[in-house]
Amino acid sequence: MPELPEVESVLRALTDLDPSFPGRRVREVRILRPSAVDGPVEQFVKELTGAVFHEILRHGKYLFFRFTAHCATSSRWMVLHLRMTGRLFLVQANHAVQRHTRFYLLLEDELALRFDDPRAFGRVWLVDSPKEVTGRLGPDALAIGHDGFLRQLAQQNRQLKLLLLDQSFVAGIGNIYADELLFRAGLHPLRVSGSLNHNERERLFSSMHEVLTQAVQAKGANIDGVFEAGSFPVAVYKRNGQPCRNCSSMIHKERIAGRGTHYCPACQPAV
Ligand SMILES: [Zn+2]
Repeated sequence: MPELPEVESVLRALTDLDPSFPGRRVREVRILRPSAVDGPVEQFVKELTGAVFHEILRHGKYLFFRFTAHCATSSRWMVLHLRMTGRLFLVQANHAVQRHTRFYLLLEDELALRFDDPRAFGRVWLVDSPKEVTGRLGPDALAIGHDGFLRQLAQQNRQLKLLLLDQSFVAGIGNIYADELLFRAGLHPLRVSGSLNHNERERLFSSMHEVLTQAVQAKGANIDGVFEAGSFPVAVYKRNGQPCRNCSSMIHKERIAGRGTHYCPACQPAV
């Protein structure tokens, strides 16, 4: 938490709403918690002061902000990973500091980009190219197409839960959406990818695509109050002990791949 749909909703809030973030110049950089910056803080402040931001991209759970530093001719990128509880907001400058604000960028027009993070695991850093980060990630789980996904899958022979959490397989899925899409696909999390038949492989792809698309439309899932605007209705995640919405069997919780895993034993048979 947050996973691909929540990160995408942060991106859309910064780009699609009015006012929007791209195109704005940074007047001042304030770091309230230096550990939020990966790398030398002085360099981060120096490079971003006076910089202009151009666009925001997402790959998996990472956000990439392209900017041009003051007097520079070529672009660089600010990378942000929200980790457990990070959030970004474009706010009025007089709302730039809250209790859990870790850093903020004061912008033109009395606006500020504010990074809040109660658990303080989120990180920001600067790179020459997004490839420095995406090079070790698989294709984005929402952007990958049917054929590309099946090619990726054909190279694997691992338990589905473990595979879906592996960011080098596809990037962006975490514990919530791995459980949700396996439920949608009717596949047990301990099934091994190499044992899936043609129909099951097709269901895995279509369920992943459907669940992520619907979750993006719903602005993510509100789990434990972290993404309070998200309205994606989870079917199994943290619903252990409650009846399955398909068949009324009790949703189970079990530790798989080191993570609490939620599934319906009737809808998701082990074999
Ligand atoms: Zn069921």
